[in-house]
Amino acid sequence: MLKEYVDVLIIGAGPSGCVSASYLHKKGVKIKVVEKTKFPRLVVGESLIPRVMDHFAEAELFECLDAMNFEKKLGARFIRGEEICVFDFSKKYGEGWDWTWQVPRADFDNTMAQEVTRKGIDLEFESEVISVAFEGKNSTTVVKDINGNFKEIHAKFIIDSSGYGRVLPRLLDLDTPSKLDPHSSIFTHVKDINRPEGEEGTLISFDILETQVWLWVIPFSNGNTSLGVVGPTDFVNSLSENKDNREALNNAIKLSDYYIRRFAGVDFLFEPVKLENYSRSVKQMYGDGFALTGNSSEFLDPVFSSGVAFATESGMLAAKLYLKESQGISVNWEEEFTGYMKRGIAVFTTYVKEWYTGNLQTLFFHQPEDPDVKRKICSVLAGYVWDETNPFVKKHDNLIKNMAYLIEMESNKNQKKPSN
Ligand SMILES: Cc1cc2nc3c(=O)[nH]c(=O)nc-3n(C[C@H](O)[C@H](O)[C@H](O)COP(=O)(O)OP(=O)(O)OC[C@H]3O[C@@H](n4cnc5c(N)ncnc54)[C@H](O)[C@@H]3O)c2cc1C
Repeated sequence: MLKEYVDVLIIGAGPSGCVSASYLHKKGVKIKVVEKTKFPRLVVGESLIPRVMDHFAEAELFECLDAMNFEKKLGARFIRGEEICVFDFSKKYGEGWDWTWQVPRADFDNTMAQEVTRKGIDLEFESEVISVAFEGKNSTTVVKDINGNFKEIHAKFIIDSSGYGRVLPRLLDLDTPSKLDPHSSIFTHVKDINRPEGEEGTLISFDILETQVWLWVIPFSNGNTSLGVVGPTDFVNSLSENKDNREALNNAIKLSDYYIRRFAGVDFLFEPVKLENYSRSVKQMYGDGFALTGNSSEFLDPVFSSGVAFATESGMLAAKLYLKESQGISVNWEEEFTGYMKRGIAVFTTYVKEWYTGNLQTLFFHQPEDPDVKRKICSVLAGYVWDETNPFVKKHDNLIKNMAYLIEMESNKNQKKPSN
């Protein structure tokens, strides 16, 4: 069998894998990326948050992406019936990027992968990891190419960025159930023929159909728009008796007072895809000779668009920690990798949970708005979830719950006041 020797093997060429690869290559590390599919390939996760821009800039992938003229995302709009709440990233608390993109991921990921290849990185498409064996930190990975040929890759370290492929979690039995309730989604792209002129047409929006059910509308600069419904799995399944994803998504669009006119009857560009019980978790995020990054480790929920940001955050961090260790500096993976990632994940987990309890929605739509609260929540939504000067990060555990409780009490009191 053909054998190759590298310092780091990266599994998967999504955002997590490309950021790791580009960073390590820049630092002179001998790497190889293996990717199961041929790009461009369809993948969900089209609304980014500003924190990702830090990673693309540091990995020197920003310029190739910027040249693609993807739709700029300056904030996010949440709709609940007649109520509207818009977050503007330029008004967020603290430092950091105040814009990002909303992107068709097939083109976006392909742009990064092409750039990675252009930099001289060995990225092999249509090459699937079949097995991995560890001897201490050293590993032997068997990959199979499109022609059915097998090859051994010997590596000192593996960064598993295989997304839902979850290569090492499967092979090493690291999967564990997510702490979040089972939710599912159905999505497609449409030719947005009724798109209004100006900002309204390009604004990314989350339309709340019921407390736990929402529709995403993500307009792209190519004239297409991504539409997806998200909700508890039982609800999503109930959208079509025949388990027909097309019928289910059409029924969800009909529930949206705001968007029904724009999207009713519009052609779907591909058969809607269902992603069932999408949340994922792992027992451990690293081990001797490997780290799990992006969706291969943890995925929470699409509601705050944090997936790609966590994928690039963990991809970048794993690359940096490998580099540090390879230079003979000791690394405390538990603290520096798992501990750090878990702190950010914990903040978003609270926001996701409190979204579905309705508490966060109470805060979002409360009038009059409190500009200070909004700025601080906005910073969390931009992905700056490690900034502990922000009370909405530091006290995430109970701040939202307590504020929602006070708002509800106040409004109950006002409702009970006798009218004169
Ligand atoms: C319904 C839904 C909506 C979402 N919406 C958003 C959103 O709006 N914004 C957001 O930021 N995130 C969103 N996400 C999450 C987002 O999809 C992921 O977090 C993100 O794509 C993770 O990137 P990644 O690099 O870890 O994995 P991926 O982008 O999935 O890349 C993994 C790569 O690994 C390859 N691979 C798999 N197995 C193997 C193997 N055996 N050998 C070799 N290669 C392999 C795959 O082909 C793939 O190309 C959403 C997720 C869901 C379920």
